[in-house]
This record gives sequence, C-alpha cells and structure tokens, in this order.
Amino acid sequence: MIKICALASGSNGNCYYIGNEDEAIIIDAGISRRKILERMKSRGLNPAKVKAGFITHEHQDHYRGARVFGQKQGIPFYISEQTLNRSFYTMRPPHIETFTPGDKIQLGSITVHSFLKKHDAAEPCSFRVEIGNYNIGVFTDIGEPCDNVKSHLSLCDFLFLESNYDEALLATGRYPAYLKVRVAGENGHLSNVQAAELIENHAAEKLKTIFLSHISEDNNRADIALSAFEHLNNKYDIRLTSRYDATELFCLEDETIQLPL
Ligand SMILES: [Zn+2]
Ligand SMILES: [Zn+2]
Repeated sequence: MIKICALASGSNGNCYYIGNEDEAIIIDAGISRRKILERMKSRGLNPAKVKAGFITHEHQDHYRGARVFGQKQGIPFYISEQTLNRSFYTMRPPHIETFTPGDKIQLGSITVHSFLKKHDAAEPCSFRVEIGNYNIGVFTDIGEPCDNVKSHLSLCDFLFLESNYDEALLATGRYPAYLKVRVAGENGHLSNVQAAELIENHAAEKLKTIFLSHISEDNNRADIALSAFEHLNNKYDIRLTSRYDATELFCLEDETIQLPL
C-alpha cells in the first residue's frame, strides 16, 4: 500500500509525506517537528518509517522544521548546494546530503527525481517521486512553468500542484504593490488559472488526482481555486490541501508485480 498525505500546505508551512509499508520520505519540513509528528499520528502514519527529508528551497515555510526533525529523528535531509549556502545556519539539520538539481536519488524502493524550477530562491527545486508503479509530483512555489515542470508533470499519476492565488483577489488585496508584483511574477507563484492551464496542456492521460496546494490565505479561497478547475472535474479527482491540518490519508494499491523467486 502506498500512502500519501499533505501534512501542511501553504505559506505557514509545507510538508508532504510519501511512503509505502516499509519506508517513507517527507518533502519539505516547513512546520515544527511537533506538528509533523502530531499530524502523522492523526493519520496513522509511523514516523519511524521516514528515512529522509528533501528540501525544495530555503524559504522558511519549506525549511524551518528541518533542523529539529532531522536531529531528533536521526534522518538525513537532501538539500541542494546553493540552497544550503543561502539558508540560515540555524535551520540546517545535522545530517545533510547535498545534491545537484537533475540528480536522481535512490532511497530503498523510492526514487526521487529532482529538477530546477522558476522561483525567487537560490536554487529552487521540485521533486517527482517514483514509488511502486506510481509517479507523484510535489510542485509548489513556481513562478511560471518551465520545460522541467512540464516534462516531469507529463509523467505524474498523482500531483500536489500549487494553486496559489486568484488574480482579482491579489490585485485588490492588502499586499503592498512590490509583493503583488513578486507573487504574480515569473519567479513568484502559480495562479489558479495558470495551474489549471498547466494541467490542460501538459498533464499525462494517466494523471488521476490533483491536490491543490500552497493556496494563499490572503489572495485566494478554496471555492475560487476549485472553480478554476471545474472544467477538469470530469477528468481528474481534484482535492484541496490545508495549512491548518493534514489532508486525509490517500492510499493506493501497490501494483508492483512481485516476480517469483
Ligand atoms: Zn512556499
Ligand atoms: Zn518559496
């Protein structure tokens, strides 16, 4: 059985769990270890299965829990060299494995494909996780979709996809002008419309479920994000993530064929 869950998603913190019966990884650790453990427990997930963490970029909503989680759980965090150099020393976990974007990292039966994307960070990455017969994408914090995002998306069966803001709410909202420009810029975040267009134009036929992720508290609403994807409802299972709680645990039958000995 493969289990996936967004433990937290949004500008207060991001943490995504992907695992099977034996092992798991987390992508980003932007909430405290206490919250990660609480939310895992609430979904029946065993923290001892988590073998490593992966950091997408140095923004605190993706990184701030990594030091304590890495230290107390005794697991490594995979962080790209430039992300590591740019990050606060106090956020760094004790055991770090560096990687170069584009690297494929094998952890037991889990393969993690890393790639560069456009975002206002030192070396922003996203990950596509191959587990059993499935490819699961965790694609948040994307200013505009580059070829890397499109090509990895075209391999995904399940997807956590940023649907950050609604253009009208951002334009009329309380953010200062410079921040509005940053959010909507090529190194900011994906709007609901951009995210839906990305799916329409580049998703694989086999894509089944999209978890709308990193939904802005100020510049978006769940119902508006869902309505941007309404025309895709008949094709995909579209779900929401939350900044305040974990999503329901999403379980997939592992169809990996066991060859007879
Ligand atoms: Zn973020
Ligand atoms: Zn960011």
